[in-house]
Amino acid sequence: MKIIISHDVDHIDVMEHIFTDLIVEKFWVRSLLELLSGKIRFNTFINRLVYPFQIRYHRIQEVMIKDKQYHIPSTFFFGMKKGLGMSYGSEKAVSLISEVENSGFSVGVHGIEYKEIPLMLEEYNLFGGISNENKFGIRMHYVRYDKNTFEKLSDCGYYFDTSEFDKEQKIFKKPYKVNSMWEFPLHIMDGYVLKEGDLEYGKIRTEKIIKQCRDNGLPYCVILFHDSYYNEKCYPVEKKWYDWLLDYLKNSGYEFISYEEAIKEMETGHGE
Ligand SMILES: [Zn+2]
Repeated sequence: MKIIISHDVDHIDVMEHIFTDLIVEKFWVRSLLELLSGKIRFNTFINRLVYPFQIRYHRIQEVMIKDKQYHIPSTFFFGMKKGLGMSYGSEKAVSLISEVENSGFSVGVHGIEYKEIPLMLEEYNLFGGISNENKFGIRMHYVRYDKNTFEKLSDCGYYFDTSEFDKEQKIFKKPYKVNSMWEFPLHIMDGYVLKEGDLEYGKIRTEKIIKQCRDNGLPYCVILFHDSYYNEKCYPVEKKWYDWLLDYLKNSGYEFISYEEAIKEMETGHGE
């Protein structure tokens, strides 16, 4: 079994949230509740109060450096439209998309529209115009989809989608085809394995899911880490988890692979 790692770019900077949504305000309230319930430490709480004034929200460069050290051909998914707290819009993503491409990583769409084909196509075409890719994939923001979403994504022309996710983390599926598109079910998402803010429990849960993927004979285990969590001051648990995860995977002898290479393996039958 090989490992696929990807990153959803939900935020670029803090300014995109000022007067447009309540992300910063909600972040403060949530942090207060997390402090009161013992989920985060007091200094993390203070850092989170000050954090919005640091302006840059994403941690794309830091994550690229980290992934490069571990030879991980990861994929970064960028939003083309605004919605559900993702508020930067495609223009702001342009230079970051080319920076990520030029650094040798893959890029794809972080989708908002999942019901109306014309609106879904707008995202597809926007990204096609901005990036240098002619075959690319998508993950829906908040992994939203209904029973027709995947077929519609295939109709749009997407190479792959990687939104299917069992929030109970009990079903482990291998990639399968939806018409001309590959669907890569997602197995591990940072926020779900770290639900309680408990690093040690998160590690145990992560190891268990990886083992279950392997026991189920999956060729690939698909993992999502949000780049903005690679931030020691505000998300110490999430950052430590990612650092631990890469060491754990490497020390366990797992190989990393991109979605594109995995598709090639499956289509030529050269996979496991
Ligand atoms: Zn998202």
